[in-house]
Amino acid sequence: MDYYSHLNKTELQEELSKLEIKYNEYKAKNLSLDMSRGKPGPEQLELSQGLLNALKADDSLTVKENIDVRNYGNLDGLIEAKELFGEMLEVQPNQLIIGGNSSLSMMYDTISRALLFGVVDSNTPWSKEEKIKFLCPSPGYDRHFAICEALNIEMITINMLDNGPDMDEVEKLVSQDETIKGIWCVPKYSNPEGVSYSDEVVDRLAKMDTKADDFKIFWDDAYTIHHLTEEPVVVKNILHACRTAGHPNRVFIFASTSKVTFPGSGVAVMAASEENIQFIKKQLGIQTIGPDKLNQLRHVRFFKNLDNMKLHMKKHAELIKPKFDIVLNVLESQLGSLSIASWKKPKGGYFISLDTIDDCATEVVKLAREAGVMLTNAGATFPYGKDPRDRNIRIAPTYPTIEELKTAIEVLCLCIKLVSIKQLLN
Ligand code: PLP
Repeated sequence: MDYYSHLNKTELQEELSKLEIKYNEYKAKNLSLDMSRGKPGPEQLELSQGLLNALKADDSLTVKENIDVRNYGNLDGLIEAKELFGEMLEVQPNQLIIGGNSSLSMMYDTISRALLFGVVDSNTPWSKEEKIKFLCPSPGYDRHFAICEALNIEMITINMLDNGPDMDEVEKLVSQDETIKGIWCVPKYSNPEGVSYSDEVVDRLAKMDTKADDFKIFWDDAYTIHHLTEEPVVVKNILHACRTAGHPNRVFIFASTSKVTFPGSGVAVMAASEENIQFIKKQLGIQTIGPDKLNQLRHVRFFKNLDNMKLHMKKHAELIKPKFDIVLNVLESQLGSLSIASWKKPKGGYFISLDTIDDCATEVVKLAREAGVMLTNAGATFPYGKDPRDRNIRIAPTYPTIEELKTAIEVLCLCIKLVSIKQLLN
């Protein structure tokens, strides 16, 4: 039932006054609650404490191919790490580069190299083209969009549907415009909506005709093993789909253990066709002599195999599922009958995406901040920080405690009610 639309102006004013009293009570509590970034909580970090003991001074530090992990070399990482992460991403070890601690920096570097030198199938470096553009399924990950903005790549917003980007729109645009060089994709449990791409979407991305011969899919598989339910979502293997479709070099895949072990000291990886990997390695070899192999070996010895990684992720899920549940329960109990907000119920990943009625999100986030509840800036989930409908709010529930979350979401709901009523009164 849409409760507010049944109220007349006087009744709405009365409701507003009551809510304002409540809001001021929260304000007087001087809260300081942060739901702005998808950070693991301290108890999640504790799960990987064993990583710090996974290598000791008297352990053998010489590994396959007689590599002494303390020394220079191994540009693309240890074979043991490639075997482990190859299994995680369902690719062959020779289709991988193991990087430093951040997949985002691998994405930034990949685009920077494309701008400077082009990619394997470019005629010219991307920066030599008059203009280049990327497709940005939105709501999406703010830092992808920040990379484009910083590197002067024009962004085109694509609607996210329930099973991935609006492929009719994507196909139409890439088939007509040769300045479109790439698309950002978070294929599983997307940031922020928790959307997973259907097989059909994967196939269409792999098969579609692109006007640019050097078009690339940036496949950020950040949440590939981050399930919240007992039925893990399986997304079709994009590298395989691209090869089958006759576009073997179309995709760059990225992932990391930032939200598996330690966000500050995980292991990041990228996967692509062997030809892409060889091309990148030539350029990478100028940038570095090699990554931190000790940290790679620490991860290999800590996990040993993919099954153990999966078990480890179950422990993460046990810790964070109740946090997602409390957010969803408070939203339902406070807003469920009001038709002033809708939200997604993710099956994995790190976020809950909420939509207010149009033109309210900026004001809601501002009011919440003034009451001590930090949320990601409204608009951040869209290119250039501009949500055309000003309605999307990203909730990151993993870092606060359950008690803190309950209060924070109560404040958020209160702010949504306040702003919605003001909107109705206008
Ligand atoms: N990709 C997505 C979709 C993310 O949500 C995040 C972090 O929130 C990252 C990448 C960051 O990855 P990394 O820590 O490996 O740089």
